[in-house]
Amino acid sequence: MSKQFAVIGLGRFGSSVAKELYDLHYEVMAIDINEERIQENVNVVTHCVQADSTDETALKALGIRNFDVVVVAIGQNIQASILTTILLKELGVETIVVKAQNQLHAKVLYKIGASKVVFPERDMGARVAHNLVTPNILDYIELSDEYSIVEIIASEKMNHKSLVELNIRARFGCNVMAIKNDHRINVAPDANDMIKTGDILVVIGHNKDLRKFEDFVM
Ligand code: ATP
Ligand code: ATP
Ligand code: CA
Repeated sequence: MSKQFAVIGLGRFGSSVAKELYDLHYEVMAIDINEERIQENVNVVTHCVQADSTDETALKALGIRNFDVVVVAIGQNIQASILTTILLKELGVETIVVKAQNQLHAKVLYKIGASKVVFPERDMGARVAHNLVTPNILDYIELSDEYSIVEIIASEKMNHKSLVELNIRARFGCNVMAIKNDHRINVAPDANDMIKTGDILVVIGHNKDLRKFEDFVM
């Protein structure tokens, strides 16, 4: 049986998470205290319910503990976000993902049992910054403080060169995990595979090494 999701709080972030899960063919129950938000989202999820998630009785009535993952997307109201998370934990929800407003909020959430805390605005801000500084960078995923995965658009100077000709691992210390273009994704590139201008390279490495490689690509 596939996973069942509940999303509490249908602001821009919560409704986007709910809609995406539903589009991926998962069952999604969306909850918001505000009736208007319910009306806006009725057609994009499986069930849409008006309820106050800080009300234990209401959560029990919704059978919240039967959901595999509950996303708490209440941003502004930190108190409601914390109370909701505690109740979900007490009711035995296995995986609780919570959107945090700031570091302190995140710290509290982890203390009371959140499985994962997300900072959508901070993360998107960082992405946009990377993209502004290096337009060749399409996306980046932070693996830890030191390591990341980046998507880099191959420039003119890489055209018709292979990984071995560019000698990427030896020169820059990073690994090309995949090469994408409009037609296909090569997920285990061979040292002799040709790169063309505009191909997207998915590269993993130490941030310092990735920056060296980015500078070379530009
Ligand atoms: P955005 O993702 O748009 O930035 P946000 O993080 O600013 O949203 P809010 O707009 O504060 O978050 O809240 C998101 C939603 O959570 C709102 O639609 C609000 O009605 C809902 N919400 C707030 N408190 C509760 C509650 N106790 N129970 C259920 N839903 C709630
Ligand atoms: P190495 O000792 O550097 O791992 P190798 O003996 O495994 O190299 P090849 O796999 O043929 O030899 O690759 C030769 C060179 O081509 C590597 O040193 C590296 O610079 C580059 N290269 C090959 N594949 C990749 C890759 N996926 N990402 C980055 N560079 C690569
Ligand atoms: Ca907001």
